[in-house]
Amino acid sequence: MTGSTDMRRVFVADLGGTHLRTAVVDESGRIQFRAKQQTPPAESAQDIVTVLVAAARECDRQSAAAGFSISAISVVAPGTVNVPAGSIIKVPNLPFLSGFNLAGAVSHELKRPALLENDANAAAVGEMWRGAARSRRSLVCLTLGTGVGGGIILDGKLWHGAHHAAAEVGHMCVEPFGGVTCTCGSRGCLEVYASATAIVRMTSEARSRYPHSRLQTDSELTSENIFRAGVAGDELALEVFRQMGVYLGIGLANLINILNPEMIVIGGGVMNAWQLFEKDMNREVNERAFPLLADLVKIVPAECGDDAGLLGAAKVAFDRDEETQ
Ligand SMILES: [Zn+2]
Repeated sequence: MTGSTDMRRVFVADLGGTHLRTAVVDESGRIQFRAKQQTPPAESAQDIVTVLVAAARECDRQSAAAGFSISAISVVAPGTVNVPAGSIIKVPNLPFLSGFNLAGAVSHELKRPALLENDANAAAVGEMWRGAARSRRSLVCLTLGTGVGGGIILDGKLWHGAHHAAAEVGHMCVEPFGGVTCTCGSRGCLEVYASATAIVRMTSEARSRYPHSRLQTDSELTSENIFRAGVAGDELALEVFRQMGVYLGIGLANLINILNPEMIVIGGGVMNAWQLFEKDMNREVNERAFPLLADLVKIVPAECGDDAGLLGAAKVAFDRDEETQ
């Protein structure tokens, strides 16, 4: 037996571009029955519903064996979602989901309330609930992964915006002159300088200036081995992370001046290279943000890792449940 039987529990699913991660989370934030699979090759919205329902039913079976039940379903997706309607507006990796009421379809099959949220928003909630921002009320959470995601929490509440697409901090412009083209259609976005994809591109672009770099011989450049080269003192890798830190710091200074958050939490895979970009990031923040705000804000690494989205998904479902009672 794990945990008390009168505690609420929700089934959570993090529908990523590469992996589908699922689990059951209880009210104390304990994660049970976690599973991770490749995001299945889906061709229709119904394919996604089928996979989510099968994963939830498996968790139902395991929960029943442990003597408790699952009261709600919460799904997070990497794109723009209409939270009140439970529908997908746009998920670039799964274009056939546009306009689909995913929460409604899953709720209908599983006969329980279901909720849909954006993955970076959920990660921000996860960090506030069980991570680096515990007891904070106003924060910005950046997720530096394949892209750059963002979640903004003001006075304890996620800021969704008038049309459900707020907190796209990865698409604020940090390089107006000759900025690299971004997938969003703009140029010079933070995402093209601070994501894992950007680290690889910047390394490749700067390579010819560093003929003695160990990255000259790496046939496959990944952000992970560029990070390892940086830790080993490779000048090319160090230069790329210094640049990345500058761009990130410019973005953070903008966020600090506009929102005056208590804390900025930085997660995602690129966060592992914190020691390589921290100094340049902090210098830009101190040079560009209002001194009072820059002194008071705490800029910290995320603590929940890959679980931030799952935890946040659970927390928004528990909160919704309380609001509707
Ligand atoms: Zn962009």
